[in-house]
Amino acid sequence: MALEQYIRDIVDFPKPGIIFKDITPLLASPKGTEECLQLLINSLKEKQIDKVIGVESRGFFFATLLAHHFNAGFIPVRKPKKLPFETISASYELEYGTDTLEMHIDAIQPGDKVLIHDDVLATGGTAKAVCELVKQLGGEIVQVNFLMELSFLNGREKIKEYDIFTAINY
Ligand code: 5GP
Repeated sequence: MALEQYIRDIVDFPKPGIIFKDITPLLASPKGTEECLQLLINSLKEKQIDKVIGVESRGFFFATLLAHHFNAGFIPVRKPKKLPFETISASYELEYGTDTLEMHIDAIQPGDKVLIHDDVLATGGTAKAVCELVKQLGGEIVQVNFLMELSFLNGREKIKEYDIFTAINY
């Protein structure tokens, strides 16, 4: 079964006019999860990876699987005031206002090879902020990958200097 078939469209979620791509059917399917995971792994070939970042919260699922596969450390990037230790932060613009993401200050060592993972690439604001966090700590971004990309929103443009991979394209 094509991977797209594990993604469910939810109309008017979280607000009217938005069609939300729901990944829970994919997560509920061992076959779908395995297929998707293999696509992400194959895109990295034999690259060395020291840390895998998962973006709160739907990025956590596959980021931990990827970290385990590559024998790398898992690093959570979270919304403000969720992480217990000292943090660094990066902000990004939303349609109305701004949002901020945080990461622990000791999460990445200078020169670490870092893979960034999130479930969806939409406008690219989230991914760009995460790239800035990695740069603040001197990490080297090996790839930024996603389960899916809403390509009509052109989020790629914001992170075009990096290697980008998406398992599903819309
Ligand atoms: P961006 O910053 O690229 O506009 O939005 C990406 C972030 O919003 C990701 O962290 C992602 O989890 C969330 N997101 C935006 N649209 C969707 C969607 O349709 N489905 C899911 N699962 N997440 C979305």
